Amino acid sequence: MPKLYAYMFRGQWLADCPKCRNASQVDLSRKKIICISCHRGIIATAYAMQLSRTANGSERQLMRPVADLEIREKAAQQARAMDEEYEIIFPAGAVNIEQVLSKVRDPRGRCWFPDREEIRALHPRASAYGQSIRDLVEEVSNYGLG
Ligand SMILES: [Zn+2]
Repeated sequence: MPKLYAYMFRGQWLADCPKCRNASQVDLSRKKIICISCHRGIIATAYAMQLSRTANGSERQLMRPVADLEIREKAAQQARAMDEEYEIIFPAGAVNIEQVLSKVRDPRGRCWFPDREEIRALHPRASAYGQSIRDLVEEVSNYGLG
């Protein structure tokens, strides 16, 4: 399974699709992704009639959006067959990075990028790559709380 490296941008862990460059939100409990921009079927929605009770106690049928599991599974299988399901690689100190950056009041300052060539190529304006927790703590204490 191909790997993608997570980076933090404005307080959110993201990973870039190598095919279309769409940034997908990822988190520490979700270590595999399929790009929704490349494989729209993985968020397919259907509508189902459901009985709903109104404020005055009467019942009526309402159309409600529900996950279309059949289309989602088909899209996921297709993505796997194309080798486009990705394993997300988080830095070893991801939880510490989150903790340090949570102290930065302005969310725009909550950024961390791994020192990876593919990240440097896609995010050339990042101020630093591969900062250690110590570097991050120092930066946050010097500048980051504004
Ligand atoms: Zn994509």
